[in-house]
Amino acid sequence: MVKKEQLLRLENISVNFGGVHALKDVSLSFDEGEIVAVMGPNGAGKSTVLKAIFGLVETAQGKVLWHEKEIKPIPHEVVKLGISFVPQGRRVFKYLTVKENLELGGVTIKNKNILKERMEEVLDLFPALRTKMKERTGNLSGGQQQMVAIARGLITDPKILLLDEPSLGLSPKIVKEVFEKIKEINEKRKMAIVVVEHNLKSLLPITNKAYILDKGVLVHTGVGAEILKDNILEKVFLAKM
Ligand code: ADP
Ligand code: MG
Repeated sequence: MVKKEQLLRLENISVNFGGVHALKDVSLSFDEGEIVAVMGPNGAGKSTVLKAIFGLVETAQGKVLWHEKEIKPIPHEVVKLGISFVPQGRRVFKYLTVKENLELGGVTIKNKNILKERMEEVLDLFPALRTKMKERTGNLSGGQQQMVAIARGLITDPKILLLDEPSLGLSPKIVKEVFEKIKEINEKRKMAIVVVEHNLKSLLPITNKAYILDKGVLVHTGVGAEILKDNILEKVFLAKM
């Protein structure tokens, strides 16, 4: 197998919020074209990992490397490198149309023709949104709003897409559709995707690698099948009870 190139790496990252150690000496790496799960109980530090990559929290220690070169993450700079972040809680603009939401994902794209092309590429991935472009996003179902949030993150044609709890508040059937879409995006666009989830076994089979965090510490790194076989998620979650 050809070794995939490393895209992004966190090296010994620590993040503190006052007295709370949200991340303690955490190292994670994401290679080109792979789907990686970051899992763990509430408060484990999952969202903080994504925020550290995107420059939304201050790190007390450690480095972020892009193609093995250290970067100092600042949101708009990170977008230009090819990193896209879809935050937790479907932060779509409910009073704007679907089209306006998608256009906002492309504010860094100055060339109108390129923006138009990107919009078409994204709508090819989400054909169900074509007929909804003029609708107010708040009128769409939860699953459709999540699709808008992911589509918006794709407008910049990132090399890596960071998704924070894309399943939140969705029914199992819709969660399955969201994960199928994630797999499709990964395959068609050869894009690396990081999916943060609380405790969702159905995510593991589509991942190449999974990291498990607990109380800000990386407690396990492995492949999905092993994590399922060894009941590692149960062990981490039971320890919380
Ligand atoms: P997860 O996404 O795994 O649920 P987070 O990364 O959001 O966890 O949070 C990790 C820890 O850091 C938690 O204890 C949380 O309460 C704390 N934390 C997160 N953001 C802040 C913040 N802005 N201020 C203070 N504490 C925070
Ligand atoms: Mg979170």
